Amino acid sequence: MIDADYGESLEELYTRWYQCTKCELGQRRVAVGGKFVFGEGARHGIMIVGEGPGAKEEEIGRPFVGESGMVLRSALAELRLEDVYITNAVCCRSCVQRYSSEGQPMHKIDKHTGLEMPVLKDELPTAAQIAMCYQRLCGEIYHVDPKIIITLGMGAAKALCSERLSTIKSTRAEIREAHIPGKIFMPSRTTSRQLWERKVKGEFVRPTEPFMLRYRIIPTYHPAYLFKFEKDRSPENPIDVFAKDMRMAAMIYDRVMLEGWQVMPSEREISTDFIRGEL
Ligand code: SF4
Repeated sequence: MIDADYGESLEELYTRWYQCTKCELGQRRVAVGGKFVFGEGARHGIMIVGEGPGAKEEEIGRPFVGESGMVLRSALAELRLEDVYITNAVCCRSCVQRYSSEGQPMHKIDKHTGLEMPVLKDELPTAAQIAMCYQRLCGEIYHVDPKIIITLGMGAAKALCSERLSTIKSTRAEIREAHIPGKIFMPSRTTSRQLWERKVKGEFVRPTEPFMLRYRIIPTYHPAYLFKFEKDRSPENPIDVFAKDMRMAAMIYDRVMLEGWQVMPSEREISTDFIRGEL
C-alpha cells in the first residue's frame, strides 16, 4: 500500500523528489550530472504519461523534448489540445552502453566539451524502477487531477492500469482504469452547478473507495515506436493506430468537457499523413 501523502502541491512534490536516488537510475543521474525530469503543463485537462526520459530530456530537464517528443507535441497541436500535462513513469533516464558489431564499447566526441563520451542506448525502465517511482507518479496525477490519461507505450500502461496487460496491441483498443491512492477531494467542482462528478460516456467518474481515486486511461503506442513504420501502409499499422487513438482521446475529452462543464468541443482532426510528416 503506498503512502498517499503527496504534499500540498506539485511544487512540494517536486521538492520532495528532485534529488531522489532511490533506484539505480537516479544514482546514474547524479554520477553523470544528468537532470531530473518532472512533469509539466496544465492541470485538470489531459495527462500524457510516457515511459521515461531520453538523452535530450536528461540534458534539458523537460519531458518529451527529443525527436519522439516533437511528434507528440505536434500531434497535440494539430488536435488543438492545449490543456495537457506531460510526464513519465520514471523521472531519470534509463540507458545502457552501446557496443559495436565487434563487441567493443562505442564512444563519440562530445561537441560541447571535446571529451570522449560513451554511446548510450535508451532502455525501458524495469518494473522495479517504475514501482520505486510510482508514488511520485501518483502524486502528479493527484495534483494535476486530469480528466483523462493517455499512456504511451507498454511500460506506461503497465505502470498505471489496474489490470494485467499483455501487449500494447491488445491493450490499446479499450479505455482502461487507474486507481490512485488519495483522499476524496473536489478539485473539479464547477462554479455554475457545484458538481464534482466527471462524466465519461454517461458514467460518473468517482473515487472507487474512500481512499482511492479512479481515472480513465487510453493506452497507445509510444511515438518513438512509430519511426520504424514510416513506410508501412498496411492496415492497422502503428502510425494509423496512433493517430486514431489520439483522435479518440480528444473526442472523449471533449465529451467530458461538454457533459460536465458545458464547454463546446473544438474542431479536432489529425491525419496519418500529418504524423508521417513529423517522423
Ligand atoms: S527514477 Fe524515480 S525512483 Fe528512480 S531515482 Fe529517479 S526519481 Fe527516484
